[in-house]
Amino acid sequence: MAKQANGGGLAPGLYVVATPIGAARDITLRALDVLAAADAIAAEDTRTLRKLLGLHGVGLAGRPIWAYHDRNGTAQRPRILAALAAGQTVALVSEAGTPLISDPGYALIRAAREAGHTVHPVPGPSAVIAALSVAGLPTDRFFFAGFAPAAAAARRRFLRGLAAVPGTLVFYESPRRINALLRDLAEQFGNDHRAVLTRELTKRFEDVMPGTLAALAEATERTPPKGEIVLLVDRPAAETAPDAATLRAALDIELVQASRRDAVDAVARRFGLPRRQVYQLALGLGGKP
Ligand code: SAM
Repeated sequence: MAKQANGGGLAPGLYVVATPIGAARDITLRALDVLAAADAIAAEDTRTLRKLLGLHGVGLAGRPIWAYHDRNGTAQRPRILAALAAGQTVALVSEAGTPLISDPGYALIRAAREAGHTVHPVPGPSAVIAALSVAGLPTDRFFFAGFAPAAAAARRRFLRGLAAVPGTLVFYESPRRINALLRDLAEQFGNDHRAVLTRELTKRFEDVMPGTLAALAEATERTPPKGEIVLLVDRPAAETAPDAATLRAALDIELVQASRRDAVDAVARRFGLPRRQVYQLALGLGGKP
């Protein structure tokens, strides 16, 4: 039996609902409940949403689906805010994955909050997390860089700005530009720097390809990849000697919950430094021995 709207089943507000990035069954039970009960759904791609609802037997029973994307956000926001002001529940979905993650929604969430409405997360799939979970690169700290600029000069400037990030870098990229991105990354971080190219996650041609930046650049030149791509790059900071302030900040964070000894171990490992060097700094910072 198709699930139908139940109106009062949900607390009022805006629900930010994650949907699958590939495999249609990667949707949470709560996401289906919210999509079945919301008074209206704002969707980046209404066709994709209708297909998903159909696959999961969620009926609309006259409830509206409003298109909400980058090109019509300004025009659509007043309608969504009016529905919220009238005490209705609205679900926001993007074409795939989690709304706002390289997808529309930020301005709407901000406006809804400013108007005093509750915004509820309905978490689920996102390509950035799916890729991190299988890449085999450190995940204790990561930086989501999104899409790098398309123009070569801007892209190189953007990559230079990431040189001191003390964590795994995560990029979304189109198959058309992945080779240029890999070439620029190799120039910035070195040919032998480790990376993992993930493709079509949770889909039929899912692929996870580890390699050096130079090897991945060559591979994508030889055989241009197809489909959706997340590229992960090992932390650049391991390549450069961090200054004392960076080390102290890293130690401070570790010392909040670890002993001095464990904090030193963690920071030395993270930056690829001798324990002794980090220990000297830690002595001045207190913490449990
Ligand atoms: N909101 C989505 C999320 O939570 O991941 C991302 C939307 S963004 C417009 C689309 C990009 O996400 C693609 O170009 C690709 O880089 C990445 N992506 C989405 N689905 C993917 C998948 N199944 N496998 C690999 N990358 C994917």
